[in-house]
This record gives sequence, structure tokens and C-alpha cells, in this order.
Amino acid sequence: MEHLKVNTIGVLTSGGDSPGMNAAVRAVVRTALGENMRVYGIRFGYAGLLENDMVEMNMKSVSDCLQRGGTILYTARSKEFAAPEGVEKAARILRQAEIDGLVVIGGDGSFRGARDLTAAGIPCIGIPGTIDNDIACSDYTIGFDTAVNTVIESVDKLRDTSKSHHRCSVVEVMGRNAGYIAIHAGIACGAIAALVPEVPFDIDRDVCDRIKKTLHLGRSHFIVMVSEGVGNTEEIARYIKAQTGVDTRATILGHVQRGGSPTGRDRIIASRMGYYAVKLLRSGFGGRVVAIREDNIVDYDIDEALSFHKDMDRELYHLVGTISI
Ligand code: ATP
Repeated sequence: MEHLKVNTIGVLTSGGDSPGMNAAVRAVVRTALGENMRVYGIRFGYAGLLENDMVEMNMKSVSDCLQRGGTILYTARSKEFAAPEGVEKAARILRQAEIDGLVVIGGDGSFRGARDLTAAGIPCIGIPGTIDNDIACSDYTIGFDTAVNTVIESVDKLRDTSKSHHRCSVVEVMGRNAGYIAIHAGIACGAIAALVPEVPFDIDRDVCDRIKKTLHLGRSHFIVMVSEGVGNTEEIARYIKAQTGVDTRATILGHVQRGGSPTGRDRIIASRMGYYAVKLLRSGFGGRVVAIREDNIVDYDIDEALSFHKDMDRELYHLVGTISI
């Protein structure tokens, strides 16, 4: 959707936070200032927008945030906003503040809000920020690389103790509907299996038999990666112990995976996307999602972006098991 020239923009982070969001906010602010635009930081996502919680940003507002995890704008979820009256109220507040374009950094839910706000007359651009890498229109989402590296660091430590005790560690990682973290970290940590919500598995064939087989070959420690979307991590651990006789413990990594200083990859992609989003608004475009495809920054209509389907890379999935035996 093409609009009139945008001179003042807002930026917010929405849904779950992810490392690298600050790099995107910084790029949005600095690019906008470079274009002689005014830019407001809206705190606590759409919830804060409905409360008029915004502050004008200058160059210094985003100093010293590039290397920090979390989001300096804070984030939230808002039921009130998702209703039609909420969207209308938000559009009214933005018009009152003379904000004529908005950058929304978040996941699919946040993009649906951005689509509705665009329809209500405020052109919005979405930037994919979530550690799960589960946004179908983009090969990559901001925060994924940092999250995978956080898991690797923790599992390397678990491996030390697993090895000392001849143990199996069943590690639950984030990913309600997507197994990207489990598969990537599984490969990087030498897991014997990665159990993910997208691929049906047979615990005997895919885990226990592999453990028994490699026990015979003299292997004494095992890592099994499980996406949170699979559920029953404790139960899986008990079952493995019962079937293999190997002392098996479940570890749920939890929210540590969302934290930490963003990796170079996350900072760079976030910066490129933030820059690109402002250029789109400046050129009069709204209702778009910024994405990355084969290392090129591209953009899609929001509805089109939401209609994409992302297939699990089966080759990567099978790689976990193949190289662990
Ligand atoms: P994450 O990947 O971290 O879950 P997300 O952006 O998908 O990120 P949601 O909680 O789904 O997170 O959405 C964030 C906010 O976007 C919601 O709190 C709500 O205000 C708004 N939103 C979600 N779905 C819609 C919708 N269908 N229409 C309008 N607004 C929506």
C-alpha cells in the first residue's frame, strides 16, 4: 500500500523480546534522523501505545544499546489493542501525536496488529523479531542466532557433567511451534536426537535404540534436545532411563534463552532491517513486512507475509541423528 510522504514515525517492540531488537530500534532511529524525520519511541508495545506512553528519540536515546539484550522500549501483549476499537483508538493517538508511520518489531501477532493499523490509516512496517525463527516469510528472525549460542553455551556445560557421571541430559529448549533452536543447537552440541513439534518421532527408534547402540560402542554421555512444543520433557527423561538404564535427567533451559548480548549476526541483520524499514516508510510504503531471503533484505505485503508456510529443513533434522552415531 502506498501512502503520502511520512515525516514523523514511531517505533515499538511487541510480543516476546529477543536479543537484537535494540539494534533494530537504533537503526530505525538513526536512519530516520538522517532523513530529517522525527521519531518517537513507543514503550510497552501496543499496550503502551494505547496509554500514549511515548517519548521523542534523538541520536543519544539509542546510544549504548546495541550490545544489550532485551529491548530498551520494553514490550508487552495487549488484548485491548487487538479488538477493532483498540486499533481505532491507537490510530487516533498516533494521529494526535502527528505520527504518520510506525515500525513494529515483533512476531506474526504483532504483524496482524500492524496490518490493522495500516488499514486504519497509519502505514506500518513489520520487522521479524523472535528467537524462534518461526516467521514464515523470512529465512531469519532477529534473536535466533543469539538464542542458539546461549543454548550451546549451557549444553556444553551440561555435557561436562554428563560425561563425568555417564549420564543422558534431556534438554528442553524454546520453540512452541518450531524446532529450529532444537535442531540447530542439536547439531552444534552433538545431540543424539532433536525432538521437534513439526516431525513425528518414535522415542524407541529415534532415541532409546540409538543410545543402546552407541552404549555398546563405548559412548557414555548423551544429549537429547527437545523443543518445548513437544512437551513432556520430564516424562521423556524417565522413559529413556527406564528403557536404556542410563541415568537420565531433564533440564529446562527456559527464559535464559531470551537474554544475553546479541551476536554479530543478530546485530547486523537487525541493523539492516531497521534501516530498510525506514526507507520503505520514507518512500511512502506501508503495510509491509521486512524479511531476509538468501541474504537479501526484501519486503512483502503483510497479508502475503502471513500466508507463507515455512517447511522444516528435513536434511538438517536428519543430520542431528546421522552424525551422532
Ligand atoms: P511472539 O513470536 O513473541 O509470540 P508475536 O508478535 O506473535 O510475538 P503476540 O502476543 O501474538 O506476539 O502479538 C503481540 C500483540 O499483537 C498482541 O498482544 C496484540 O496486541 C497484537 N495482535 C495479535 N494478534 C492480533 C490480531 N489478530 N489483530 C490485531 N492485533 C493483534
